Amino acid sequence: MARPLVDTFGRVHRDLRISVTDRCNFRCTYCMPEEGLEWLDRSEILTFEEIEQIARVMVNTFGVDSIRLTGGEPMVRANLDELVSRLAALGTDVAMTTNGSTLRRHAQLLKDAGLRRINISLDSLQQERFLELTRRDELDTVLDGIDAALEAGFDPVKINCVVMRGVNDDELVDFARFGRDMGVVVRFIEWMPLDADEGWTNDRVVSQKEIVAAISEVFPLEPIQRGHEPAQRFRYLDGIGEVGVIASVTQAFCGDCDRVRLTAEGQFRNCLFAVDEFDLRTLVRNGASDEELAAEIERGVGAKWAGHQIGKVNFIRPHRSMSQIGG
Ligand code: SAM
Ligand code: SF4
Repeated sequence: MARPLVDTFGRVHRDLRISVTDRCNFRCTYCMPEEGLEWLDRSEILTFEEIEQIARVMVNTFGVDSIRLTGGEPMVRANLDELVSRLAALGTDVAMTTNGSTLRRHAQLLKDAGLRRINISLDSLQQERFLELTRRDELDTVLDGIDAALEAGFDPVKINCVVMRGVNDDELVDFARFGRDMGVVVRFIEWMPLDADEGWTNDRVVSQKEIVAAISEVFPLEPIQRGHEPAQRFRYLDGIGEVGVIASVTQAFCGDCDRVRLTAEGQFRNCLFAVDEFDLRTLVRNGASDEELAAEIERGVGAKWAGHQIGKVNFIRPHRSMSQIGG
């Protein structure tokens, strides 16, 4: 019988994000420095067996019912379908966030392995701007990857778009139209201070309010009753689809957060913005039992703060960028 993974504020954690690699074939300006980052040595990264042991404890001991694979770029990890099928066999929902650049080759394989849900990151529909933002000229490849995900039967396919003032905030309506035309759910994400170049400033964050107002001028929206998910959903009044906004900065949802994270090198994090990490890799490599791992995970969750303080004077910026933590 599973016991709840609960913190001192009574929040129950049922959602695990696993970074399977810190490597990436893109270098998005809001996530990585231009010169790239120094990759972890392969020996530092958890093996599939090690990930599976930690995931098993999360599912069997704590009733975690949702696992999302991320990175870095999860699809640069070889044989990812094998990991997906091992995790799906635990009886949990398995999802992935990807830049979409290799989906044409892998979407069907991953679907067949048991991947249930997919989010594809796309921050511009304009070729030149896509190149500037990702430092890769692969807009067409990613668009083709979205087609491949739809053809493989992922439903819904979600598009993650990080909105940055003066960078891509003139494309909000284009993205709304794209979502409606393609039958995909676009989720706009407020830019968070996790870029490696530390270029983030509060005034460059485009708020949920601004995003919804801009889209509503062309395609009127109304809010959908909020569930546990971080995105506030809005439906189009004409009935053709919906959008979501993840307002991590202007309307932080820390009070409802049910998420914990495992980095590629096996560090357990109780928050995206956590400063402390809990070393599960050493435990696993020293032959710890499931109960010993569970105790360390409970210690990690017990240390969780009430919430991050982005934009306030007491905000402490994590040392690592989004790609190193696992977004
Ligand atoms: N490489 C994959 C991708 O791009 O989808 C997975 C890892 S990426 C770090 C996960 C998500 O984090 C992406 O949707 C990305 O847009 C988002 N992200 C990265 N840096 C961010 C930032 N500073 N603020 C908000 N979202 C960010
Ligand atoms: Fe890579 Fe994803 Fe970060 Fe872009 S957002 S650099 S694709 S990890």
